[in-house]
Amino acid sequence: MASAHASTASAKKEIIVLGAGVVGLTTALKLQQQGTYQVAIVSEVLPSDPKTIRYTSRWAGAHHVYNAVNETNQHQLEEETFNVMWELSSSGSDAEECFLRIPQTEYLFVDQPTPEPLEKMPHFRYLKPDELIPGAKSGLTFSTVSIDVPIYLNYLLTRFLAQGGRILRGSVLHINQVLEGGTGLFSGGSKDDPLPAALIVCVGIAARFLGGVEDKDVYPIRGQTVLIRAPWVRFGRTETLDEEGNKTYIIPRRSSDVIVGGTRTPDDWFPRSRPETTLDILTRAFALCPELAPPEIRATRTPTLDDVMPHIVGEGCGLRPARKGGFRLEVEWIEGASVRREGRIPVVHNYGHGGYGYQISWGSANKVLELLNDALGTSQSS
Ligand SMILES: Cc1cc2nc3c(=O)[nH]c(=O)nc-3n(C[C@H](O)[C@H](O)[C@H](O)COP(=O)(O)OP(=O)(O)OC[C@H]3O[C@@H](n4cnc5c(N)ncnc54)[C@H](O)[C@@H]3O)c2cc1C
Repeated sequence: MASAHASTASAKKEIIVLGAGVVGLTTALKLQQQGTYQVAIVSEVLPSDPKTIRYTSRWAGAHHVYNAVNETNQHQLEEETFNVMWELSSSGSDAEECFLRIPQTEYLFVDQPTPEPLEKMPHFRYLKPDELIPGAKSGLTFSTVSIDVPIYLNYLLTRFLAQGGRILRGSVLHINQVLEGGTGLFSGGSKDDPLPAALIVCVGIAARFLGGVEDKDVYPIRGQTVLIRAPWVRFGRTETLDEEGNKTYIIPRRSSDVIVGGTRTPDDWFPRSRPETTLDILTRAFALCPELAPPEIRATRTPTLDDVMPHIVGEGCGLRPARKGGFRLEVEWIEGASVRREGRIPVVHNYGHGGYGYQISWGSANKVLELLNDALGTSQSS
């Protein structure tokens, strides 16, 4: 039995996924599920590490709400992701604890986009004029999921490991290091370790600096948030303030924490919260959602922001990995990457997902699998 298993495993092509954020983990799982690839993840930061500015996925809200962009391809991938997440969040699913299904309300201080991509969401309807908040031009409501990001990232990691995936901590300076050395560089293995048949690059904002990629179209859109423990808030609420997409948002997580935000500042690399920004976020969030104050206070008097302050459990900021021209999802053939092999090797890029990395994660992983199968001549049934 043991040798049969070994020969099956060794018949599988070795694929290395670089990066263990939501994009890398989801991609690795998707490739693994086909059954024809032996997948390993190499990453500098892992989901259970302390939060760091080098790992955006821990800072996300996160929820699934289509952005008002006329990008059909993006919406297609986001829709594929929503379908997976809706299923994962269903009662009795093994991932149910990672999600909260919520009623979501959006107020727009800008013109309504046409077509409105949110119309396809469950329980969608436009708000009536008397349901709008002052200053809002229009509004809508629907159902969606919020994602409890620390729990979800660890769920993805655990599922990947349970299905035979390998995770190696490693910091890569140039992609040629892994193309020549494979996972053996990080596992203490020998130079006879199998070389990867392909490399998948899911390094988020680091795509700007990683040797062999150095994509100068990648830039940060910094987002600052505050975390409030408010188990009584079980709905999402957002106001879109301007055409640049600045928003105030309330995102409850299943765990009872509520992320309130936000900010979006292009090319701002500052890695810590700014106190004046925190106060601005809280002021906007409380005006949009006085329900952040505990219900027992609201039952007796008009609440103030001071009633919310004792329930703050954290604050922070992350760098959304944006890219001029949109995300990069394509194959690049690298020539002469290694003295240990001849010919070209496919590198599949999957980065630059800005403020929508969660809600596009499964769709872009599907696309990576398609690109990889084409590049390696693998059929899904092989
Ligand atoms: C405040 C905020 C709110 C957000 N809200 C939402 C939301 O509601 N919905 C949504 O869909 N998205 C949201 N996002 C966006 C989302 O968080 C990102 O798009 C997503 O996390 C990007 O994931 P990633 O895997 O590409 O990058 P990351 O999470 O940054 O992961 C990159 C990985 O690559 C590894 N790596 C990098 N360089 C190297 C190297 N040289 N060697 C080895 N490993 C390396 C890192 O260690 C890490 O594991 C939000 C972001 C922020 C900041």
